[in-house]
Amino acid sequence: MKEEIQAHDILDLIGNTPLVKINKVSEGLKGNFYAKVEAFNPGHSSKDRIAYHIIEEAERQGILKPGNVIVETTSGNTGFSIAMVSIIKGYECVLAVTSKSSSDKIDMLRAMGAKVYVCPANVSADDPRSYYSVAKRLHEETAGSVYINQYFNDLNIDAHYKTTGPEIWNQTNGKITHLIACSGTGGTISGTARYLKEQNPNIKILGVDAFGSVLKKFHETHELDPSEIYPYRIEGMGKNLIPTATDFDVIDKFIKVSDEDAAHMARKISKTEGLFVGYTSGAAFQAAKQFAEEGEFDENSNVIIIFPDHGSRYMNKIYSDEWMNEQGFFDNVNREEEKQIEF
Ligand code: PMP
Repeated sequence: MKEEIQAHDILDLIGNTPLVKINKVSEGLKGNFYAKVEAFNPGHSSKDRIAYHIIEEAERQGILKPGNVIVETTSGNTGFSIAMVSIIKGYECVLAVTSKSSSDKIDMLRAMGAKVYVCPANVSADDPRSYYSVAKRLHEETAGSVYINQYFNDLNIDAHYKTTGPEIWNQTNGKITHLIACSGTGGTISGTARYLKEQNPNIKILGVDAFGSVLKKFHETHELDPSEIYPYRIEGMGKNLIPTATDFDVIDKFIKVSDEDAAHMARKISKTEGLFVGYTSGAAFQAAKQFAEEGEFDENSNVIIIFPDHGSRYMNKIYSDEWMNEQGFFDNVNREEEKQIEF
């Protein structure tokens, strides 16, 4: 029995995600395209890597001991991953989320044993009721607690420097020419790029930003332009502030993709590649397409695109025709053409 055991617990399965060749949505584009499919992590997203790394590092430094509390402010992938790691390691996981979070998401976190504080969405960050303030207060009031603070934690970059970067380098035998990754906290793109550029400084690092976010403009001007900030629908990428977990120096350039194009691309990837991907995976491949159309790649380009999470988290969004319709995302689409993909 012993030699058949593949994992001593679920955490042993974090990382070493596959590279999958993209064959259909890439038709007509110059270059070879491969997705790093992070949904193969046990918590179904790249955030398993940072949750595991940050918590292990806090243990190494003696900050965390069994029974202690881990605090974060997210209803998304990071919350799920922290909850999963907390179960195995015996910590209490406390997540402060906004009332904007869907009940599905909150239920999912509670299913993973997290204590969830739902805080009002329409208050400023420094209001004592905001989820930032609540998390900060819980952290300050709880001895031995750790605040993950993914946007401002260098260990976020470090997790990807130590795992995602070397994996991609080895999986491509060093033949990668371009990396494309969406930027939210910036941890994925920064850590992966830092490792890859150390191996070969000629590898081009291409970031993906949302319309309504400040990252691309900040990269170009080093200034935060408030006029760039407006609401957008895609979750997990783009930002209205500058996270220190983003190392802008290792990123060659950013491109913006629209909520609408990203949604359609995710649906197309699911239907043509059989890869059921999340919203930002659609954004990442849409960026690859836009870069290809700008002449960024040639026949010898080996483009690695990070697909951060799984489509099952978006059933009430991009995989709901009703939601797509409400957003007006079908207004400019020939539905017959879209349906043809359904065979
Ligand atoms: N896609 C999704 C779905 C995410 O949850 C995140 C994390 N915010 C990202 C992309 C971006 O990753 P990072 O925070 O490492 O920049």
